[in-house]
Amino acid sequence: MEFSKKAMEIAPSITLNITAKAKELKAKGIDIVSFGAGEPDFNTPKNIINKAILAMEEGKTKYTATSGIQELKEAIVKKFKTDNDLEYKTSQIIVSTGAKQCLANAFLAILNKGDEVIVPVPYWVSYPELIKLADGVPVYVNTGKENDYKFTVEKLKEALTDKTKGIILNSPNNPTGTVYSKNELIEIAKFAEENNLIIISDEIYEKLVYEGEKHISIASLSNYAYMNSIVINGLSKSSAMTGWRIGYAAGCEEVIKLMTSIQSHMTSNTNSITQYASVEALNGPKDELDKMIKEFDKRRKYMIDKLTSIKDISIIRPKGAFYVMVDISKYYGKKFNDEEINDSLTFSKILLENKDTAVIPGIGFGLDQYIRLSYAISIENIEKGLNRIEKFLSELK
Ligand code: PMP
Ligand code: GLU
Repeated sequence: MEFSKKAMEIAPSITLNITAKAKELKAKGIDIVSFGAGEPDFNTPKNIINKAILAMEEGKTKYTATSGIQELKEAIVKKFKTDNDLEYKTSQIIVSTGAKQCLANAFLAILNKGDEVIVPVPYWVSYPELIKLADGVPVYVNTGKENDYKFTVEKLKEALTDKTKGIILNSPNNPTGTVYSKNELIEIAKFAEENNLIIISDEIYEKLVYEGEKHISIASLSNYAYMNSIVINGLSKSSAMTGWRIGYAAGCEEVIKLMTSIQSHMTSNTNSITQYASVEALNGPKDELDKMIKEFDKRRKYMIDKLTSIKDISIIRPKGAFYVMVDISKYYGKKFNDEEINDSLTFSKILLENKDTAVIPGIGFGLDQYIRLSYAISIENIEKGLNRIEKFLSELK
């Protein structure tokens, strides 16, 4: 069988692979601590689960409109108005099978062969591959430690060519946890306008912010940004619904229509039961979300305190999402037994094999000096895992 060159050039998701590997080892009875998790460790709130059961009992188990049921799109419109000061009509909304599918739809809708999309480093693993699947070209922009790895207009200018079609913005950011300020976003929106660029704004972690940070949607900052942004969001993180597969996107009517047309041939509608439950997630009480945020914040602080006390590592201080990036490069060149460590993949592999602790190698995000640790796991496991990492580091010679 001869395969597609494009498909063979796509790297499988490293985040999902490592998380699955850790779960597999755990199922075999090994006492694994997994910092891989890109998902809340809480169950979906009961009121949402109950609405799903009700939907099934009421026979809401059929195909729906491709772009989503009207009630859900209305709830999404209300959410954008209340949380982001954005006015959309329901015809400007599409509901998809995860924010991941929204992103895939968006790239397929806007890219022609060879079009470039600026991707700031570090980036979430799936952006480059999704751009390539849509025949686009990811163009990486190096950010920098001094700016907490947030990109600036100066950096964007360096990457600009006559093929640049769009830029990706992900705030709060996976993997760094940094949050862009209003002024930073205004500058990026101006730059996009001057160069006629589309902004793909991935806001999936918007609810998970700490230290008084406030999430602002770039689409709300100018008329150009409103008309030329595709805002991506979902309930995976904010309502602990990763397995339900629910995401949504908003943009101008024309782009949403194209995304809907693409989706109508790919997956049709998002699972109908998930959609009915998601209406409750958006319109119902948010006390479980508040509890989850408080718990993540507690773990975040614990993690920062402990990590900053470990010799020869440094971190990017996260103010959003649930990850910490840890710079381990001072240990590069050292050996564990006879194996030399010079990159994040080798570091993560040896750590897992010898200390039963799973982390995501920074190379997956384009930053090979780092590993990513998720704090969507219990404090007890964080403590156990960090002790193991500290011991591992002390054994490197
Ligand atoms: N964007 C970012 C930055 C993510 O970390 C994730 C991972 N969940 C997604 C999008 C996709 O989320 P989902 O498909 O579960 O909605
Ligand atoms: N987004 C999460 C992560 O970065 C979940 C895994 C994935 O979808 O890639 O770990």
